[in-house]
Amino acid sequence: MVNIRPDEISSIILRQIEQYDREVKVSNTGTVPRVGDGIARIHGLDRVMAGESVESEDGTVGTALNLESDNAGAVSMGDGLTIQEGSSVKATGKIAQIPVSDAYLGRVVNALAQPIDGKGQTTASESRPIESPAPGTISRRSVYEPMQTGPIATDSTIPIGRGQRELIVGDRQTGKTAVATDTTPNQRGQSAIRVYVAIGQKASPVAQVVDTFEERGAMEYTIVVAETANPPATLQYPAPHTGAASAEYLTYRKQHTPIIYDDPSKQAQAYRQMSLLLRRPPGREAYPGDASYPHPRPSERAAKSSSQPGEGSMTALPIVETQAGDVSAHTPTNVIPTTDGQIFLSADLFNAGIRPAINVGISVSRVGPAAQIKAMKQVAGKPKLESAQSAELEASAQSASDPDKATRNQLARGQRLRELLKQSQSAPSSVEGQVATIHTGVSGYSDILEIGQVQRLLVQLREYSVTNKPESAEITRPTKTFTERAETLLKEAIKEHTEFFSLQKQI
Ligand code: ATP
Ligand code: MG
Repeated sequence: MVNIRPDEISSIILRQIEQYDREVKVSNTGTVPRVGDGIARIHGLDRVMAGESVESEDGTVGTALNLESDNAGAVSMGDGLTIQEGSSVKATGKIAQIPVSDAYLGRVVNALAQPIDGKGQTTASESRPIESPAPGTISRRSVYEPMQTGPIATDSTIPIGRGQRELIVGDRQTGKTAVATDTTPNQRGQSAIRVYVAIGQKASPVAQVVDTFEERGAMEYTIVVAETANPPATLQYPAPHTGAASAEYLTYRKQHTPIIYDDPSKQAQAYRQMSLLLRRPPGREAYPGDASYPHPRPSERAAKSSSQPGEGSMTALPIVETQAGDVSAHTPTNVIPTTDGQIFLSADLFNAGIRPAINVGISVSRVGPAAQIKAMKQVAGKPKLESAQSAELEASAQSASDPDKATRNQLARGQRLRELLKQSQSAPSSVEGQVATIHTGVSGYSDILEIGQVQRLLVQLREYSVTNKPESAEITRPTKTFTERAETLLKEAIKEHTEFFSLQKQI
């Protein structure tokens, strides 16, 4: 017979009552039953958030993305080769963050903001979440300041305002990177800096871009975030978010920060790879169903801040490569609706020597014109219209044997305006210079010239005006208006210079 001891039972009950209030301790450490291709399945992480940083015992950092009933799927931020099956993984309680600081200006870093340029470590006092929501309506102002960039074709016909999101789209090798980097020149003294994010490219073009920045003395104003084609997809995916976090840090410190994403379609491919490895169901072009959610998010973080978080701005310039001009593929269709316009680059124009190869007729900027200065508005309405019309006319004139005089004139004007918009790489021009150049073309002064001479004449004219008629630009600069006096002075300069030019032609 079992001997029941009442004092023992009562002591157990007493102990249970004493411990009644004690909190149940949730273990925030799990183990890895399966690992491969940078994805770890973790069992036992009871309270992990989506996007939370997790850390394995060897220090490898990862992000929990898939939260399932019995396990969490995490992507490792690195090759993940050191995580073994059976390793233990701890949740950190924090959404993935990166260090941010002014000290990153002039540096090339990876998606974890670790310097990869061999210039040593950087100390950062602050950190920001890699992914953070785009600013809401209250903390934005409408775009009203011009970015004032340098390439005539963009400034005159597709102006970009600070805080805008403008897509640059075109086939491979059509000058997309050149347009984006020329559009964000280092503007010394205007507190303009820039973030360039290279995703999934080969190392050599990235090194070339960094070299160009260094040659122009612009690197000290630039942060380059580079995840080339070699590292795992899991690092290419967060690279644009890392760039956006750095740009936000600078924006909220009242800086004007353009950010170039070169190119989000590589990020989308990385996300597709990760999603397939996480066994999410594939959809269109094997992209996961939610691909249109995370992938344009870095661009959406661009904003012209209201005075609340600082008067800075973040201007996003995503670059998307198309195949044979097809803008209906997955990435362009996802990015186009999240931007305020597109600059289309055409392989045909590029090959015909029209560089930058911007197809002015079909490129648009929706909010930029509000930010354009008055002088530019006064002169620049026409070139877009005329060059677009002339491109159409050219096609029909080829089939007509003898176009009438009006058509011939319009064709001639269009061809010259197209010449006028040509510009070599890294040769930005001042707004006053641009206003004068466009006025020369639009008013028909270049119509008498042979097409091959237009570029040369205009470059010479700009130099001539600077030395002999500087007053014209001096009026335009502070007033931002193309006044009658400025126009008269410019006309004189054109007249004197055209005489000089025709004399030169005869020699
Ligand atoms: P990819 O598809 O490989 O990324 P991309 O479209 O970014 O190419 P870029 O690398 O910018 O094109 O330019 C292609 C080539 O054209 C480069 O050699 C560049 O120097 C040249 N190029 C670009 N813009 C101009 C220009 N305005 N004038 C003369 N050459 C240019
Ligand atoms: Mg490029």
